[in-house]
Amino acid sequence: MARMPSAHSDRVVVLNASYELLSVVALHRAIAYLLREKAEIVAERDGEPLRSASGIEFPVPTVVRLLRYIRLPYRQRVPAWSKAGLLRRDGHVCAYCGRHGATVEHLLPVSRGGLSTWQNTVIACVACNTRKGNRTPAEAHLVLRRPPTVPTVQTALLLALAAPERDALVGLGLVAAL
Ligand SMILES: [Zn+2]
Repeated sequence: MARMPSAHSDRVVVLNASYELLSVVALHRAIAYLLREKAEIVAERDGEPLRSASGIEFPVPTVVRLLRYIRLPYRQRVPAWSKAGLLRRDGHVCAYCGRHGATVEHLLPVSRGGLSTWQNTVIACVACNTRKGNRTPAEAHLVLRRPPTVPTVQTALLLALAAPERDALVGLGLVAAL
C-alpha cells in the first residue's frame, strides 16, 4: 500500500472499481464506505490510525476504490460549465497569444447569442479579448492555438485535484503525469 505525505487531510479521492477517477469526498464519507465494506484503501497517509466505534483500526485513507463498478449516466459525464473549470481546462493561458489569461472569451459573442458552454468559451488575456471585441475569431483574424474541448468528469476532477492528490494518483500509475 502506498504511503504519502499528509495534505488536504479532510479529502479522499474515490476511484471506481475500474480505477477511473470518480470523485473527491470528505474523509468521514470515505470512512463510511470502508466500514460498510463498499470500498478498499488504495493509498493511505502516514500517521495515527483511525479507530471506529467498534474498535476496528485502519490507516487514514487518501485514495479509496469502490468494490462495485458505478456506471455514470451521460449527464454526469460532462461537468457543468464554470469559469473556474474553464480556467483549469485552459491552464490560465490565453487561447490566442499563449500569455497568461484570466478572462472568459466567448467565440460567438454573448451579444450575438453566444452561450457559456465548453465549446463556445476559451480563456483569453485582456489584450486579445479587447482586440477581438464583438467579433468571431475569424472576423477578428485571430487564430485559436487549440480547439475548445468538452472536459469529461474525469479530466475535470483530475484538474480540480490538489497537486499532492494528483501526484498520488500519478505515483500509483493510475493517471499519466500531467
Ligand atoms: Zn492573449
